[in-house]
Amino acid sequence: MWHKPQIKAKKLSFADTKKFLKSGVYCEEEFKVTHDDFGEIWINDVKTQAVIGGPKKDQTAIYETAEMYGARYMSSIIEAPHEHFARKTVARTEDDMKRLERELYNVYKLVKYTEENDLWVQDEHQCDATFKCPYMKSCFSNVELDPDNPPEGMKCIYKKEKK
Ligand code: SF4
Repeated sequence: MWHKPQIKAKKLSFADTKKFLKSGVYCEEEFKVTHDDFGEIWINDVKTQAVIGGPKKDQTAIYETAEMYGARYMSSIIEAPHEHFARKTVARTEDDMKRLERELYNVYKLVKYTEENDLWVQDEHQCDATFKCPYMKSCFSNVELDPDNPPEGMKCIYKKEKK
């Protein structure tokens, strides 16, 4: 069992931002910090959101990138693993096992049928369920996709033999 993360990505304080931009180290992980010609700050090639302010009105505070958030989350796991994971016995009856076996077999048959018939089923509940689906642009504008016309920025690396 695992515990869903209880912390969210955050904005660093002005002092912590200054320290991080100087050292490139955040939660004991090293990051590549660069500044572009427009004054934007990039962390491991990802542009960060930044806020200018503070008592002297010229300080910078950045928001964590996904990787920085990951580093902070990883250090919280290392510090207190018991708060993130637990091992417990879950009792299952013989009937539960049989039902699972039937369900797995059904899933297998569905996957096989879908592959054999080249079916591509849309699931609008997953478009931004956890992360934004990279196919949204094509999908929402009803662009017909096939191996010769993949979504923008993608290429087909697997072409099925035409029957
Ligand atoms: S946008 Fe992605 S998740 Fe949503 S229906 Fe299209 S392919 Fe499925």
